[in-house]
Amino acid sequence: MKIETIAIHAGNYIDPSSKAVIQPIVMATTFERDEDGGFSSGYQYSRSANPNRAALEQVVAQLENGVEAAAFSSGNAAGMSVFQSLEPGTHIIAPDDMYHGLRNQLKTLFAGILEFDFIDVNDTDILKSHIKQNTGIIWIETPSNPLLKITDIKKVVNVAREHNIKVVCDNTFATPICQQPLTLGADLVMHSSTKYFGGHSDLMGGVLVTAEKSDWWEKIRNVQTMGGAVPSPMDCYYLTRSIKTLPYRVKGHVHNAQLLARFLQNHPRVEEVMYPGLASHPQYEIAETQMSYPGAMISFTLKGGEQEAKKVVNALKIFIQATSLGGVESLIEHRASVEGPDTKTPLNLLRVSVGLEHIDDLTADLEQAMA
Ligand SMILES: *Cc1c(COP(=O)(O)O)cnc(C)c1O
Repeated sequence: MKIETIAIHAGNYIDPSSKAVIQPIVMATTFERDEDGGFSSGYQYSRSANPNRAALEQVVAQLENGVEAAAFSSGNAAGMSVFQSLEPGTHIIAPDDMYHGLRNQLKTLFAGILEFDFIDVNDTDILKSHIKQNTGIIWIETPSNPLLKITDIKKVVNVAREHNIKVVCDNTFATPICQQPLTLGADLVMHSSTKYFGGHSDLMGGVLVTAEKSDWWEKIRNVQTMGGAVPSPMDCYYLTRSIKTLPYRVKGHVHNAQLLARFLQNHPRVEEVMYPGLASHPQYEIAETQMSYPGAMISFTLKGGEQEAKKVVNALKIFIQATSLGGVESLIEHRASVEGPDTKTPLNLLRVSVGLEHIDDLTADLEQAMA
């Protein structure tokens, strides 16, 4: 099946008692035993498994071309479950341009438990020189946040395989509509489903998808069900509902982003536009090869520095000044302010999550704000 069809049908079932075409929301925390004490329905207690979570996990696993998925209460909970599944002392190689929430998690919660290096994972020499005896995973994020750097997934996978190291890819910015890391050889995919999967800025969630069942995956499942950072049946329902339109939403976001990136590139007040769909992007060719679409996140720097950038943000009327991404409404933020004092993000950089408004209204809004 094609991805548009998977998004609508995978995981959904017709309710046998009512014949409702959309599966019901099962709020129950506990499930009745059979006379012999068994659980023929497959459900026992909702922390371990729930029908709405199972439906969500099934559709996401198929969208990412994986064998199984595990849903969590946030993207950070999904990421943390990967770190918690590793033996203490394991060394992690992670990108220098990494989602700050997960970088901070490693540096604060896992200091002294795991070892980590934040490097340019796309430079093979640098990558190889950081591999140690105890390196367990290479974490990648592509396109990256907020510089929209592209990592060549196949290249990293080839290095990792030589050393028996697993590759985990944060695919939040791309979504499986734009890029399928498991198909390119990654072992695990991570998502903040708070973003494009949810798509309406109204729920938190995270998902992991595995390329194969393994002892490692069993450990991750244990962290999920014993740790209990699981999404509610309601949130799972909303997510499966949103995912049905994910392919068309993403195509709409990308359409707007391509036009907006070109508009920004031609604007005299703009210094540089970071968008993998522009031929001027330093890794445009890698993006062309490994992505079906270049995504809908754009960062750009303004001539004149931090004050100019903040002025533009405050003059916008349609773009909302807020963090996060992937919702139907366009968001813009001064990224360095969000990331705090240790940020390496340029102070004149604005990050845009391009929404689904009409592109003419978006460009007109930026035009008046930069006038
Ligand atoms: C938002 C985000 C996360 C964290 O997800 P939460 O749902 O906010 O916990 C991780 N990675 C990326 C790339 C993100 O954008």
